[in-house]
Order: sequence, then structure tokens, then C-alpha cells
Amino acid sequence: MKLNFDNRFTEELPADSQTTNQRRQVNNACFSYVAPTPVSGPKIVSVSAEAGQLIGLSDADHASTPFLEAFSGNKLLDGMKPYAMCYGGHQFGNWAGQLGDGRAINLGEVVNENRARWALQLKGAGPTPYSRTADGLAVLRSSVREYICSEAMHHLGVPTTRALSLMTTGEQVMRDMLYDGNAAYEPGAVVCRMAPSFIRFGSFQIFASRNELDELRALTQYTIRHYYPELLEQYPADESGYTKDCIVAFFSKVCDLTVTMIVDWMRVGFVHGVMNTDNMSIHGLTIDYGPYGWLDDYNPDWTPNTTDANQARYRFGDQANIALWNCYQLANALYPLIEETEQLEQILTDFQSSYSEQWQRMMATKLGLNEVMAGDSELLKQLESLLVATETDMTRFYRALAHENLDYDHFCRHGVFYQSEHSSEYKSQLEAWLTTYQTRTDGCSSSNETRFALMNSVNPKYVFRNYLAQQAIDKSENGDHSMVNELLNVLRKPYDEQPEFEVYAQKRPEWARTKVGCSMLSCSS
Ligand code: AMP
Ligand code: MG
Repeated sequence: MKLNFDNRFTEELPADSQTTNQRRQVNNACFSYVAPTPVSGPKIVSVSAEAGQLIGLSDADHASTPFLEAFSGNKLLDGMKPYAMCYGGHQFGNWAGQLGDGRAINLGEVVNENRARWALQLKGAGPTPYSRTADGLAVLRSSVREYICSEAMHHLGVPTTRALSLMTTGEQVMRDMLYDGNAAYEPGAVVCRMAPSFIRFGSFQIFASRNELDELRALTQYTIRHYYPELLEQYPADESGYTKDCIVAFFSKVCDLTVTMIVDWMRVGFVHGVMNTDNMSIHGLTIDYGPYGWLDDYNPDWTPNTTDANQARYRFGDQANIALWNCYQLANALYPLIEETEQLEQILTDFQSSYSEQWQRMMATKLGLNEVMAGDSELLKQLESLLVATETDMTRFYRALAHENLDYDHFCRHGVFYQSEHSSEYKSQLEAWLTTYQTRTDGCSSSNETRFALMNSVNPKYVFRNYLAQQAIDKSENGDHSMVNELLNVLRKPYDEQPEFEVYAQKRPEWARTKVGCSMLSCSS
């Protein structure tokens, strides 16, 4: 197995001068060197072949001993120089100070044959200087969730970090899953994830909060130079360094990418669950899969995160507002390099209009409309009230919509409702909406066939439903990893019919309605 490492992040950015692995505040540094903790009995649960290909690995590599040793944290490959990143963040709206990679350890950056660069990071590989009071480990339960969901999101076309491998470590890890005093041992696991970089909003915030402006500048310039190089062509650096306009343009780009990501979440029914600013990627990627969830019945007020149950700050329907709030925090962090608010404020104002425009366009494609016309926003508003009027499975509803002769019975036959009986008032409202909708689509220039194909290319048939995740976890914890691998496989083609896997397209069964792990998740992982 040969990986070509080029560790730009650690070479170009300031390191923590201390190298002992002790929990501490780390000042004036982007990262600390720290080695993964070896484990006693690593075993592969699953490898994502597509992710491996991105760094030039073959199936034979994936099955090799060096792979097992390297991606469980037991042995370093040539060129790996592991480190944990320093960042801060706002958690649930409050500034939390230094957070950092408490249980993530970066192995290095691989440059593949096409010069694409992938940072590799182990999650759950032992304590780091940023572990605070926790153990630096991860359990199989949460690792299965991160591993499959990262890959599923990629295949859905949602910007995301990737996952290369999932292994059990042979260790037992103590967790109080519901924070209710019932701690128990669970199998330990490590996921190797991949991204262009793991730089977060919080990576900038930590320097601004400490008034470490040299480091703030270094990280900002690094990020622009390597990930937004086109901005330097547009706004060349002058004798005093990168211009304010360049940094403003960088901020604007990050906002744009964030808008795109949220629109995609809304399209597929994904609720992140912990949109703290340390969980916001500077590349607009979905990152840090914790107590996330997928909408079964469409409910904009839903969050799977029990830690957030009272406030539901991170509910499905509020994700764009929260993303905007997070962008405000990034603007605050970059402000010391810009010292003018006007342009930043304008970008934040544009965030809202840009989001609502892109959201409308996205919703139009879900309905098979290739342009947004006057009256469509009313159509969308009415649809939303119908979807919440009775428990309606979001994923199944949109797939069922790509058909001719739509009426109430059609949706019953397609199993979109969680209740079997409906009032005549609801039925007539639904049918009135369907009539308006079909009149609207009759006016489209494209054929039904084309329209249905468009709809089925944005409305997935298969999503990583919460109860499916829990079933895969239950089996995996008993040593049977077949469902993890089968789900990974099905979710590679989420828009295809795949009749042999119809079972994975079923709506949430009743037993899963209130089951822990299916509809309720804590941050414990
Ligand atoms: P999260 O909410 O998972 O994004 O985590 C928030 C912060 O807590 C991050 O700095 C994590 O690195 C840290 N963290 C979460 N779980 C652990 C753990 N088991 N050990 C050490 N640090 C952790
Ligand atoms: Mg995090």
C-alpha cells in the first residue's frame, strides 16, 4: 500500500510547541502533534471502496494488514505525522472556548495521482490535548452512524466529508447513552474520514477570541491560498499582504457554499442536530455526524437530539437561520482582519435572499417544475401545510408524486401516511392541491416522462432512515456487520428503484416511533 503524503497543514501553520499529550489550553497554534493510541484487536467492519479510490487504494490494499494497522491507529505509514487541530466554537448559542479535536487525530494529507488532496482523520483514536474531561474514544453505535451517513450523503449529492473505513478496536468503552446514570460498556470503534481539510468556523473563532491575530491571519491566508486560490487572482495580495477585499470575498464564498449545503439538507430531509460553529466546515461540507436524523414524517419542528429537546434550536425547519447565525460568528471572527462591517453585513443580508431563492428552485425541482413561476410559492406553502396536517412520510411522498392520475388513494397505495384514516376535510384539501398542481404541470413544456425523471433524480428513494441505522447497529454490536455493508451498498444509488431492496424504502415501523436511537439520540457517542 503506497500513499503519497504531503502534510501542508502542519508544514505551513504554527504548531503547539508542547508535544506531551496532556489536556490543556493550547495558545498561538493551529494544532498539536499527538499519536493515536494503539488498540488491542482491530477488525474491519466495512471499507468504502469509492472513498479508497480517491486516495488511490485498491480492494487488495483495503484487505491488507498495513491498512488494518494504519486505520485503526496502531501503526503509522511512511509520511504520516499525526496531529489534533485546535478550534473553539459556539455550542447551542453560547461561546464554549477551546474545543479542538478531542477524539479526532489527523494522520496527514494524501495527494493522489490527479493532484487532489485528501486529509485523513481517525475519529475515536484516543485522547489528545483537546480531550478535556472525555476519553478520546468512540463507540460502534455512533461510528456506524457517521460512516454510513457520510457515504450516503455523498451519493445523494450533498456536500460532505467522506468515510474510508470503519473498524472495531477490540476495546470496550463506557458510555452513559442517555445521560441518565445508566452507563454501560459498548464496543469501541474508529472511523477514518476524509475531507479536503477539516478546518471549521471555530478554527478562526478561537484565534479571534484570544486576540491571536497573527495566527488568525496565517490560517485565513492559508485557507484562501489553498482552497480559494481564484480569489487571489481577482484580488491580488499587495505589499501589506492579502487585501481586505480578498478576505471579504472569501467570507462570501463560504456563505454561498453554506447556503448550497443547507438547501441540500432540506431537499433530502436531513437534520444535522448539532449545528455548533465547531461543526461548520469552511468548505461548506456536512461534518461531524452525531445525533443527526432523517425526517420520517415531515415535521419542520423535529430534531433527533435529546440534548436539544426543550429548545429545539437545531430543528429541521430552522437550519438555514442557524447557518446564518453561524456565518455571523464567522464574520465576527474575520472582522479583526477587515475592520469594516459594511460588506460583511451585506453578505449576511444576501444570505437570506440567496437561500430563499435557491430553496424555491430546489423545491420546484422536487415538484418537477424546471422554473419558478408566480404562484409557485403559494403552491409550496399549501403543500407544506398538507404535509404537516397528517403524518406524511417525506421521502415516500415525493417519490409517489412522480406519477400520473394523482389522488388521495394513490398516496394511500404508496404508503406515505402514518395514519390509516383521514378526515374528509383533509382528503378534499389534498385533492384540491393535487388539482392545482396538475394544472400547473400541464402547463410545463416537458413531457411527463422527463418530468418524472427529473423528480426522481432529486427525490431519493433510499435515505439512511433512523430505524435502519439502529437495526444495522444492533446487528453489528452482535458481530454481524452484513447490514452495515448492505445499507452502504443500497445507499450508493439512492435515486434508483432497486426493487430487490424495497425493504429499505419502507416508512418507519411503529415500534421505532419512540425507540432510543430511532427517533431520539443524545450527543453521547
Ligand atoms: P461534537 O459535539 O461531537 O462535535 O464534539 C464537541 C467537542 O467535544 C469536540 O471538541 C470533540 O472533539 C469533543 N469530544 C466529543 N466526544 C469526545 C470524547 N469521547 N473524547 C474527547 N473529546 C470529545
Ligand atoms: Mg464536532
